[in-house]
Amino acid sequence: MPGTDSDTPRCIEVALAVPLFRTFTYTVPAGIAWPVAVGSRVLVPFRNRAEIGICLGPGTAPEGVRLKPIVSVVDSEPSLPGPLIDTAQWIADWYAAPIGLTLRGMLPTLLLQTKTPTPRAKTQRVVRVVQELPSLLQREQTFARARQQRVVYDLLEAQGGVAPVDALLVQANCTAGVIVAMVKRGIVEVKQEVVERDPFANRAGVAPPPEPSASQRAAIAAILAGDPGQVFLLHGITGSGKTLVYIEVLRAVLQQPGRTAIVLVPEIALTSQTVDRFRGAFGDSVAVLHSALSDGERLDAWQSLRRGERRIAVGARSALFAPLERVGVVIVDEEHEGSYKQAETPRYHAREAAIVRARAEGALVVLGSATPSLESWERANRGQATRLTLPDRAGGASLPPVQLVDMRAVTKIERAGRAPHAPYDPMLGVLSPALLKAIESRMVRGEQTLLLLNRRGYAAYLQCHACGDVQVCPHCSISLTYHRVPEALICHYCQYQAVVPTHCAHCGTESIRRRGMGTQQVERLVAERFPEARIARMDVDTTSGKWAHTQILDRVGRGEVDILLGTQMIAKGLDFPNVTLVGVVDADTGLNLPDFRASERTFQLLSQVAGRAGRGPKGGEVIVQTRMPDAHAVRHALTHDYLGFVQEELEARQVPAYPPFVGIANVVVSGTHQHLVAEAAIAAAVWVRALLERHAIAGVSIVGPAPCPIDRIKDRWRWHFLVKTAQPRLLTRLARYVAERAPVGTDAAHRTADVRLVVDRD
Ligand code: ADP
Ligand code: ZN
Repeated sequence: MPGTDSDTPRCIEVALAVPLFRTFTYTVPAGIAWPVAVGSRVLVPFRNRAEIGICLGPGTAPEGVRLKPIVSVVDSEPSLPGPLIDTAQWIADWYAAPIGLTLRGMLPTLLLQTKTPTPRAKTQRVVRVVQELPSLLQREQTFARARQQRVVYDLLEAQGGVAPVDALLVQANCTAGVIVAMVKRGIVEVKQEVVERDPFANRAGVAPPPEPSASQRAAIAAILAGDPGQVFLLHGITGSGKTLVYIEVLRAVLQQPGRTAIVLVPEIALTSQTVDRFRGAFGDSVAVLHSALSDGERLDAWQSLRRGERRIAVGARSALFAPLERVGVVIVDEEHEGSYKQAETPRYHAREAAIVRARAEGALVVLGSATPSLESWERANRGQATRLTLPDRAGGASLPPVQLVDMRAVTKIERAGRAPHAPYDPMLGVLSPALLKAIESRMVRGEQTLLLLNRRGYAAYLQCHACGDVQVCPHCSISLTYHRVPEALICHYCQYQAVVPTHCAHCGTESIRRRGMGTQQVERLVAERFPEARIARMDVDTTSGKWAHTQILDRVGRGEVDILLGTQMIAKGLDFPNVTLVGVVDADTGLNLPDFRASERTFQLLSQVAGRAGRGPKGGEVIVQTRMPDAHAVRHALTHDYLGFVQEELEARQVPAYPPFVGIANVVVSGTHQHLVAEAAIAAAVWVRALLERHAIAGVSIVGPAPCPIDRIKDRWRWHFLVKTAQPRLLTRLARYVAERAPVGTDAAHRTADVRLVVDRD
């Protein structure tokens, strides 16, 4: 370190994984090489324990404080390259998160253990085929009477020509002598090899289509001509072939020696088809970072990237932190997806953080979507991103026609035609005759149907079945939530309350119902109506197993499923040419959630799921059932009209102001005692208002406090208020100040009720 002479103490700043907004200064004793590289793991004493921390650079010793020395530097090469440290600093700043917790999220847990901070790679004995026998004739000649050798060979071949000795012996149910014999004959060899635990290894990749179309070529060329750090918004309709654009951009970038790439997808489990395409194009250069990886598997993948053996990281949100150097491009597929926002500290949005990391790396950014988020659309409108368009479906397919079924009319017909005391037929309220008929014709033709019912498991709402009216808060443009005890309709943003009506305020009939049909009930109805159908259901309940999603989707791909029914999980990235019908059972479910993004999410969901139909030569159709056909999210989805939707939605976000026009920080106070949480939230809001007044800060509004939409989670009560402002830097400072200083959790009562405050930005 220049300027460091021998008599000033050698100090470093260390980030530790504790929920504190500070770093810690340690000295570096003689005998440890100086300087300590930024991003290296160091072992330090902390609260009478040894902890792993990250070196953030040289520190200054405060006057008169005796600093403790570090124990050792664990890494020979820094675990975290410089641009990742910069990204972490930005996340900590922007999202008001402790730097130590932010950095912790960037490392595999096994690298944070103090016992064996550098676990050794596992090795095992494997059998590998050395003499290939591709034809049946060759095999019959080679193994004429050696039946068991033939079994071993076939098993090996099925596993890509290599398998662990132990596992193979079990599978083949034979003795080691069989393998020894095969080694002697020169058919296989046995070696001690480092095993990389890669659960994706035995999935076949999918070859990309041969030739990009003219619009794909134009997009590829524009991206490759971009400047370092430039952001592209690739707006391509469903089925337009965005994946091929990504692949060609990756190919060109990786041709530059030493360049690497990151590809983010919403959820690996749901996008196995997309991942298979990347593997098909780049094979072993791809490390797939899957949320279902074990700690060991994650470490293996991480290390192979760090060592540069694999140059492409594909994964969900946290793959953004892949320890690659010289990243040339960061791709964010389906950039509008809500799953890019992390719900725990640090509460970052991977799309925003991707742009920051790319800038630090000098890399290109490609944000792809058929239904870009309003944030990205506005970013392009302001000239901070370059918009590219793929207006047509690839390979000559066209977008499927969408038919609307107004379920209010179905209810009316049903009421009129029913004898006064006849039993209610649930089928009619759920699956319209039009949808049933369409499913039936698919069954007859051997084609596949997707049925979407996005019933998320919280608070129902009230809707008039005759006219579709749902009661909305007069102050917040957000639907009121039905509460049972005490019975009321409540706005979850401002706490406005209304009594539960018996008659519809709009049409005067007594048709108000609680809405709450879930996927299980629909599955039963469909099975009753089509007893011969092979039905698969895909929702949180059916996909708890590690590879459950992939297994269901693989079955659909092999044609073993006639009807796939599910929640929004089935709307993502699926590309099955034999799916010719998509039915949306209830388009309204998401519209009435207490969230300013409700319309945007509904439009995205409807467009995305509609985009699953008609990808093959047989074409397709979409049937959308709704009681709110006039909602702009529904109207524009019928005509695949993204631009029309965006225009109306952007207008709706102006008054009252919501993103992208303002930044929002959601301040959430939680704890085990309801009244203490309410009190603390109110006090914190008063404190913020006073702060604004004292410093004469203008242009900030505080909305609330009020109970959160889900006001109790895991026995913790939750209140929140919103801080809104159009000045991002001011919001950064405020968020940080509130997170660090708000008078919450400081007094004894708060501590017994474990009252805590968190800030969640955007
Ligand atoms: P998107 O992600 O934009 O919805 P995909 O990347 O899944 O679209 O592509 C849709 C389908 O079109 C895929 O089956 C893909 O193989 C095919 N496809 C993409 N580009 C071409 C092309 N240039 N020619 C023929 N088929 C293509
Ligand atoms: Zn309100």
